[in-house]
Amino acid sequence: MLDTATRNIKYLPGVGEQRAALLGRELNIHSLYDLLYYFPYKYIDRSRVFKVSELGGNLQHVQLLGEIRSFEEMGEGASRRLVAHFTDGTAFVDLVWFRGIKFIKKRLDLNRQYVVFGKPNMFNGRVNIPHPDVDDASMLQLNKMGLQPYYNTTEKMKRSGLNSNAMAKLVQNLFALLEHEMEETLSPDIVQKHGLMSLDNALRIIHFPKNVKELQLAQYRLKFEELFYIQLNILHYARDRQQRYAGHRFAKVGEMFNRFYSENLPFKLTGAQMRVVREIRRDVNRDCQMNRLLQGDVGSGKTLVALLSMLLAKDNGYQACMLVPTEILAEQHYATLRRMLGNLPVRVELLTGSTKQKERVPVFEGLENGTVDILVGTHAVLEDNVQFRSLGLVVIDEQHRFGVVQRAKMWAKNAIPPHILVMTATPIPRTLAMTLYGDLDVSVIDELPPGRKPITTSHIFRNNSDSMYSFIRRQLDEGRQAYVVYPLIKENEKLDLKNLEDGYNQLCNIFCDYRLSKLHGKMKPKEKDEEMRRFASGETQILVSTTVIEVGVDVPNASVMVIENAERFGLSQLHQLRGRVGRGASQSYCILVTDYKLSEDTRKRMDIMVTSNDGFEIAEADLKLRGPGDIEGTQQSGIAFDLKIANLARDEQLLQYVREVARAVVEADPACNNPMYKVVWERLRAIKNMNNWNWGAIS
Ligand code: ADP
Ligand code: MG
Repeated sequence: MLDTATRNIKYLPGVGEQRAALLGRELNIHSLYDLLYYFPYKYIDRSRVFKVSELGGNLQHVQLLGEIRSFEEMGEGASRRLVAHFTDGTAFVDLVWFRGIKFIKKRLDLNRQYVVFGKPNMFNGRVNIPHPDVDDASMLQLNKMGLQPYYNTTEKMKRSGLNSNAMAKLVQNLFALLEHEMEETLSPDIVQKHGLMSLDNALRIIHFPKNVKELQLAQYRLKFEELFYIQLNILHYARDRQQRYAGHRFAKVGEMFNRFYSENLPFKLTGAQMRVVREIRRDVNRDCQMNRLLQGDVGSGKTLVALLSMLLAKDNGYQACMLVPTEILAEQHYATLRRMLGNLPVRVELLTGSTKQKERVPVFEGLENGTVDILVGTHAVLEDNVQFRSLGLVVIDEQHRFGVVQRAKMWAKNAIPPHILVMTATPIPRTLAMTLYGDLDVSVIDELPPGRKPITTSHIFRNNSDSMYSFIRRQLDEGRQAYVVYPLIKENEKLDLKNLEDGYNQLCNIFCDYRLSKLHGKMKPKEKDEEMRRFASGETQILVSTTVIEVGVDVPNASVMVIENAERFGLSQLHQLRGRVGRGASQSYCILVTDYKLSEDTRKRMDIMVTSNDGFEIAEADLKLRGPGDIEGTQQSGIAFDLKIANLARDEQLLQYVREVARAVVEADPACNNPMYKVVWERLRAIKNMNNWNWGAIS
C-alpha cells in the first residue's frame, strides 16, 4: 500500500522538484498526506443552471446557459470595458470585462450557445456579471460533477500556474494513485455508533463532493476525528497523570483557616466563592493531585479563594506558592496577602527577578527549613535553586498564557507534585478552555461581590478629548482617581513611549492642580514600585501608564479608566484593563479613545465593549472576531490551533460531544491495551509525532 504519510509530494504526477519546493514553502505541503488533508476552503455549485430572470444582486456564483446577442465597448481609461449582452430567452444580463478586451472579443462568437459562470453583481440598479468564465455549451456535460472545490493558494503559487484548479488536478492525480481505500483511523465501534462516514469516503468527498448533503457528512466525519484526537490526547494525559501521582492530602481545616475566616475576613464570601472553596477542599482531601482551573471575571475575588486554599495547605503542614506573571502584580499580591493576614502567624515572602541576593538568602533558607508558609513570586520561582521543604499547593494567577507544557514543568520540584490551582481572569471561551486547559477540572466564579455597579463604558473620538478631560476633572474633584493607558507594542516601542510621554506632559498641563504618576516597562523596578505605591496610596490622582497595569492591580478608589488608541487592543485586553476600575463601591467609567477612521472590526470591538460588561460574552466575541490562533496564550500552549477543518469558534457543540466520546475511550481503556481501541491509540501516537505534542506519553 502507498504510504501517503511519508511519500514525498514531488513524486506525484504533475508536481516535480520545483512545484514541490513551492508547495512546501507556501503551504507546508511536503507529503502526499499533507495534500490529502489540504481541504478546499469553499465549493461552488455547478450542478444547477440558473435562468437569467432569476438573477438578483445577492446571489453567489451562478451558471447560465445562453447566447451573446451583441458586444459594446464603453467607458474611458480605468472604466473602459467590454460589455456582452447575454440572454437565455428569459431576460438579458451584461457580461463585463475590464481587462483582455481584445482577446475576449476575438474568442467569443455571437449567437452561439455558451455556459457562463460567475458572480452576479448589482451596478446602477442593473445586474451584471464581471469577468465570468465562458465555455462552449458542450462543456456543460463535464460540469455535471457537482460542487467545484476551491483551494487557497498564494500569489507566488498562482504565478507558477498553481491556482485552485491546478490544485484540484493534483488531488485528482493523488486519488488515482491510491489503489486501496484509506485505512480507517477511528475504531469500528466509534464509526458505527456515531454514524460516521468512512475515512476513505470522507476524504474523497471533501475534495470532490457531488452535493451539499454528502459534503456535510464528510465534513462532520473529519471534524469529529480532528477534535476527537485533541480531546483524547488531553484526557488521556490527565488520566495518566492522575494514576501516576498520588497527591498530598489536606485532611483537615485547621487553626489558620478558621481564625482567618472568623476574625480577619473583612466581608462575607460570595456564594460563588464559597462554592469554589468547597470544590477545592474536596479535591485536596483525596489521594490524588488537584488540577483545577478557576475562572472568574475581573474583580470577582479570586485572590481570596487563593488565600483560603493556601491556608488549608499551611494547616496541613504544607507550603504554598503563588505564581504571577509580572513583578508589579507579585508585589501587590504580596502586600495584599500580608495585609489580609494581619497578625496571624503565617510567614509570607516575595521572590522576583529583582529580589537582591542578600534578601534571597533568608527566603531560600525559610523555604528549605519550612518556615516560609507562602511564597509569592514570578518566574524566578521556577529556577532550580528554589527548593521547598514541602510544597503542597501552587496557585498560578492570571496565567492564561500558560498551557499544559509549562505546567508540566512545574511539578518537577517535588517527588509528589503539589496541587495546582490555575486562576484566569480573562475568561476563556468554553471551547478554548476545553482544549487549552482540557486536562483540568473547572470552577467558575460567576458572581461579583455585592454592591458593585456595572462600569459605564463609552467610546469617543480623539478630537472630543476636551469633554473627557472635564469629565475626569469632576471625578477627581470628588476624590476619585483615574488611569490613562497607552498601548505599548514591541515593534513600535520608541513611538509608543513618545506617545506616553506626550500624553503625560499634556495631562500634567491640564491637571496642573493634581499630581500624576507615570508607569512603563522601561523604568527600574524600584521606580515602578514607588509610582505604583504613590498611586495606590492616593498620593497621586492620575496614573499614566502602558499596559503594565493590565493584570491584577487593585486600587478600589480609582473610578476612571481611559484607554488611548483603544483600536490597538484586543477585546480581552480591553476588558482586562477596564477591570482595573469598578472595584470599589462608586460608579466607575471606562472611556475608549480612538481615531475617527476605524476598520469594521475595530468598530465591532468598541461596540461590544460599550454594550457588554460580561467577560465571557466578550471572550466569545473575541474568539469569533480573531480566530483561536490569535487569542493570547494559544501560541505558547503547545497545541496546534491551525486546525485543518474544525473551528473552535463554531464547532462548540461538536467539541463537547466528541470530548465525551474521548472520555469514554479513556475510561474504557485506561491502559491503552484493549484490541478494540488499538487503531485509536496508534493513530494518536502518529498524530502526536506529526504535531510534536511531546507531553504525556502513551504507555
Ligand atoms: P480578581 O478576581 O480580579 O483577582 P480580586 O481578588 O482582586 O479580584 O478582588 C477584587 C476586589 O474585591 C478586591 O478589592 C477584594 O478585596 C474584593 N472582594 C473580594 N471578595 C469579596 C467579597 N466577597 N465581598 C466584597 N469584596 C470582595
Ligand atoms: Mg486577581
